[in-house]
Amino acid sequence: MNRKNKGRISYTLQAISMLPLLVLGMVILLIGYHYFTQTMYDEVESSLQGVANETIALIDAIYPGDYELVGEDVYQIYKGEQDITNAYQLVDQIKEYTGLDVTLFYQDTRVLTTIYNASGGRIVRTGAADTILTEVLEADTARFYNNAIVNGTAYFSYYTPLHNADGTVVGMLFVGKPKSQVDDAVQKSLYPLLIAVFLTIIVMGIIIFFYTRGIVRTLLKVRDFLSAVSGGNMMAEIDPSVLKRNDELGEIGQSILAMQRALRTMMEQDTLTELFNRGSANRKLKQVMAKAAEQNTPFAVAIGDIDYFKTINDTYGHDCGDATLKTVADTLKEHMRNCGFVARWGGEEFLLVFDRMDKAEARKRLEKLQDSIRRLEIPYENQVVTLTMTFGVTEGEQIAIKDLLRRADSKLYAGKTSGRDRVVS
Ligand code: GH3
Ligand code: MG
Ligand code: MG
Repeated sequence: MNRKNKGRISYTLQAISMLPLLVLGMVILLIGYHYFTQTMYDEVESSLQGVANETIALIDAIYPGDYELVGEDVYQIYKGEQDITNAYQLVDQIKEYTGLDVTLFYQDTRVLTTIYNASGGRIVRTGAADTILTEVLEADTARFYNNAIVNGTAYFSYYTPLHNADGTVVGMLFVGKPKSQVDDAVQKSLYPLLIAVFLTIIVMGIIIFFYTRGIVRTLLKVRDFLSAVSGGNMMAEIDPSVLKRNDELGEIGQSILAMQRALRTMMEQDTLTELFNRGSANRKLKQVMAKAAEQNTPFAVAIGDIDYFKTINDTYGHDCGDATLKTVADTLKEHMRNCGFVARWGGEEFLLVFDRMDKAEARKRLEKLQDSIRRLEIPYENQVVTLTMTFGVTEGEQIAIKDLLRRADSKLYAGKTSGRDRVVS
């Protein structure tokens, strides 16, 4: 038996059940991350769009009229009658309410903005990227950018063209949110999913661990029992927890147990008569003697032999002899049921051990038995076989078994020589 193999199945079972779980967890995380990010981005975009539209409406309401540039080097921007060149409170308030950065472009130049540069000034009088100018200002189309760089920072942004009353494009409105803020929010919202997947994997892992450990432990118990039985230990006991299982392993345990019983029977029984064989008779007699010594009770030992059995064989054939042996064995077993045991000692010789019984009582029993044997009529191929038996019985004593048997045997011999069909004590 290779004990080094202990647990190898356990690792394999755990690996093959954990692997799909891990892969599934990863897939759920990736898909979850993708869709979640997409949803968040969509939401940011629609809020940018909403704020942009409301801002334009607000500016038009507060400052009715067209945008107009006045001056060249030191310019001023007018909206209708009013100079809005320094109307920063407008964009600042929108930022305060919405948390979004807002920039107003006159043509390609920033006029009002909530975005500051490193030295603390607003980034006015700067321009937008060329692609944005082309795609928004020139094409007169509102657009989203999820990675527009403003002042060195990546923004989720919405650029929409601004129009004067005659429909000409006069500038752009930018509404945006730093990309890092959006991504932080996405990641924070993903934590519960991450933790849920992680916990599920851990819990499943623990369940799988204990389940596979149970299976492997059972397998090891089955293996140990099998190797004990195959090593000849017919008294080995299988762990009851194996038999309690309601699955294939439980069934395997039951089968091995049945196999052990069958083997034990085969080893202990004589195949023809199904009585104990000589080997197990010796063991059982030892047990009876030990118990008698311990409890100070009597016992008696007898040997019985069929008279002229050779003649039965010779007259009716060997098969008839076998059938006769079986019938005799059944009769002996019947009579010995509650008073000890009977074994096939040799060819047509039987050992009878009377437990908790002295020689006188055993003798009475044997005489009854002898009578039953005498009255047997064994049918065989339209004929009837009858027979007699001779018994020698001796009082049980705490001496060597072979001496005890020698005593019983000499009584039997005396019975044979004095005419057979009798009990000698
Ligand atoms: P006795 O009265 O002196 O005992 O005479 P016996 O003929 O019974 O004794 P013996 O020892 O001469 O013959 C015993 C015979 O039993 C010989 C043997 O072939 C036969 N025998 C032993 N075992 C079996 C068996 O399993 N089946 C059959 N059919 N015969 C058996
Ligand atoms: Mg005989
Ligand atoms: Mg004999």
